[in-house]
Amino acid sequence: MKSFNYKALPINVHFGRGRFKEVKEILKEYQFSSVLIITTAGQAAQGQKLAEQLGHICVGVHAKAIMHVPVAIAEEAIHEVQRLKVDCCLALGGGSTIGLAKAIALKTSIPIVAVPTTYAGSEMTAVYGLTENRVKTTGKDLKVLPKVVIYDPELSLRLPPKISACSGMNAMAHAVEALYAQDKNPIITMMALDAIRALKDALPVIVEDTQNIEAREKATYGAWLAGICLGSVDMAIHHKICHTLGGTYNLPHAEAHAISLAYSVHYNRNADIEAMTQLACALGGTDHQQVGHLIYQLNQKLNIPMALKDIGLPEDGPQTVTRIVCDSPYYNPRAYEYAELEQLMQRAYMGLPPN
Ligand code: NAD
Repeated sequence: MKSFNYKALPINVHFGRGRFKEVKEILKEYQFSSVLIITTAGQAAQGQKLAEQLGHICVGVHAKAIMHVPVAIAEEAIHEVQRLKVDCCLALGGGSTIGLAKAIALKTSIPIVAVPTTYAGSEMTAVYGLTENRVKTTGKDLKVLPKVVIYDPELSLRLPPKISACSGMNAMAHAVEALYAQDKNPIITMMALDAIRALKDALPVIVEDTQNIEAREKATYGAWLAGICLGSVDMAIHHKICHTLGGTYNLPHAEAHAISLAYSVHYNRNADIEAMTQLACALGGTDHQQVGHLIYQLNQKLNIPMALKDIGLPEDGPQTVTRIVCDSPYYNPRAYEYAELEQLMQRAYMGLPPN
């Protein structure tokens, strides 16, 4: 066995159906007494309901989170927490909501309790992002790492089938790239494989029956493990491609991940054969050459958009994205080959199978 480093992040996790009902008790356990609930506008009513449940320990609902955390939105929220003398931000929502709580924590060190309602995984990482003038800046700081995370699969029952599937494939992408990360280790590999198996089994059930609580539970569990992978090891080419698609063209985060994953793993299929064979087996196949197809077929089953052109990538997008990715690459187990990558991005643009 190769030598390795493993570092666990200090987060307390409460997992299980109905655990949302314990939020007040959990907040009190940590002696929080001035809690601001953060949500998106779409989840404001859910935030308001929680505020009623929390009673006097809640000082308000700030329902202004939007994707990619614009600096102006963060500044407004920071002003609000200072005005209200908040001692905890409770983020109820997906990556956008947790992202806003992180931006507040970065400036104020106010601890975060996260209650995720998508599968994006931000709650398990110390990574934050802020966007200004269409440029997203990311960084890492333990200050933004949630102190407590409450996973209640019942909260995802309202997540529509398309968002569930894309968000689940976003989680899958974290686990997949952890398998061939530069700093991979056996603990994270174990979690990544379990995450991939759980998501592969649960997501097709969820798109047929969004109310299937066993499948929701399995997907939430997979997303949690995938989030740990994202927070623990460095991501590679696939995340570089998706950060470029999001940063340069503002493509929707989860959809961009879901569509691109088949092409990224196909590109890497011979780069780390042990990892890719493990991936193929976790997806129900046997051969590392098949990995791109296995993901592509899973996406077909999930009935999600299959082509980057259908989620807003312009015709010259494949070329531009490939150039940016090759000019400022992340670590990848295989070198960045412009011509081959551009061809793959063209196929992703059209939604064709990876080869
Ligand atoms: P999101 O948070 O934008 O949520 C998508 C939509 O679904 C929103 O309108 C939201 O209100 C709605 N929604 C969420 N949960 C719901 C539920 N249970 N029922 C009904 N509607 C619900 O999307 P996301 O994919 O979770 O997050 C994307 C953002 O998170 C991006 O900005 C991305 O960069 C960031 N992100 C950051 C990290 C990190 O480690 N920092 C990790 C993953 C994602």
